[in-house]
Amino acid sequence: MAPDAEDRLSRLLARRRALLGPVYRTFYERPIEIVRGEGVHLFDRDGTEYLDAYNNVPAVGHAHPRVVAAVADQAGRLNTNTRYPAEPILDYAERVLGTLGAHLDHVMFTCSGSESNDLALRIARFWTGKAGVVVTVNAYHGVTAAVAEASPSLGPAVAPGPSVRTVLPPVPTAEDAEAQGERMAAELRSAIAALEADGAGFAALLVDSIFSSDGIIPDPIGFLRPVAEAVRAAGGLLIADEVQAGFGRTGGMWGFQRHRLEPDLVTMGKPMGNGMPVAAVAGRAELLDRFGREIRYFNTFGGSSVSVAAAAAVLDVIQDEGLVENAADVGAHLRDGLETLVAGSPMLRDVRGAGLFVAADGFAPGGDPAEVASRILNGLRDRRVLVGTTGKRGEVIKIRPPLVFARADADRLLEALGEVLGTLA
Ligand code: PMP
Repeated sequence: MAPDAEDRLSRLLARRRALLGPVYRTFYERPIEIVRGEGVHLFDRDGTEYLDAYNNVPAVGHAHPRVVAAVADQAGRLNTNTRYPAEPILDYAERVLGTLGAHLDHVMFTCSGSESNDLALRIARFWTGKAGVVVTVNAYHGVTAAVAEASPSLGPAVAPGPSVRTVLPPVPTAEDAEAQGERMAAELRSAIAALEADGAGFAALLVDSIFSSDGIIPDPIGFLRPVAEAVRAAGGLLIADEVQAGFGRTGGMWGFQRHRLEPDLVTMGKPMGNGMPVAAVAGRAELLDRFGREIRYFNTFGGSSVSVAAAAAVLDVIQDEGLVENAADVGAHLRDGLETLVAGSPMLRDVRGAGLFVAADGFAPGGDPAEVASRILNGLRDRRVLVGTTGKRGEVIKIRPPLVFARADADRLLEALGEVLGTLA
């Protein structure tokens, strides 16, 4: 980086610390000041281009012209709330419910994944009259008080709620992978028994169907079915958190559909508006109806005209550009290439994923896998390829690009990764 650019960046970071405080963290040892995005490309202030292999929110690509036009057009006419009957939100509701399965027939709109999970927990607790919620050991479900206390990945400074219990997610590399669902179901039954014994009772299992923060665990397909059966048998609700896995990410429209589940409630957000703050809870009508009849719920910005215009344009693009199929195709191509690289490197292993949600674990015999993952992440950044990390210690390389990622983009990533692995060897 040129010295004046470096100066500018350090001033920017200092100002950020002074004004926003330590909660605002940055990606990468050398943070990037992004000023523009287009498709899978990001550009910094100097015009340097980066390949975005990490951001799932701009699912149909940064600044997709159809989304931009829909948002601008709607913002230029009207942006108001759901107290006024309007057609576009109904057209959208019909379309999104149509992708979810016949048993989910109502939808409520919010502004974020956190709000959706918070609302889903309220609905589940109201319906069951119980408080207890089970999540996985390193789950992340959002920022409100209720979901933060059900998000153990936030670390020990955020105490788990008194009515929250955890279960281990499946271990995909275990020899008995097929039995992992049964193992998780058995743990869930114990957690439910503990909640019953405490007097909290069991309201819901809140689960991310691809276990993003637990390290990305997609397989084997169907392993969550015994878990869902254990939820039902205990009279609780199954809430599928599709905030990351939804809208085509896993090579099918919804992550829970890969596991052939029928959740009672589905929460969605992130890619739903390609960056506009639109999110939702879909569920069985009886659950949402009872909640809606007895509790006043009005979300000022949830389902506003502009958000709905963005969400509708996103669905149009996903369908018209075949992005679900693209995620399946390019994701498989990327995983194949990763397998080859991993076979030749001791520093990376266990390639896994579904669609364009792909992971591999940093590995250091006798060393710190998170350190290896960090060196890979930063080495890629220096080669203008942006990925992320996840898992309990940040030991997992997380590749989760916009869904318009092409095979050539995957090849570029693989080439850069090959170079980085070469430097680590
Ligand atoms: N659930 C999952 C699985 C998530 O990944 C996130 C965001 N990382 C959330 C919920 C919260 O969404 P938001 O940041 O939009 O509140």
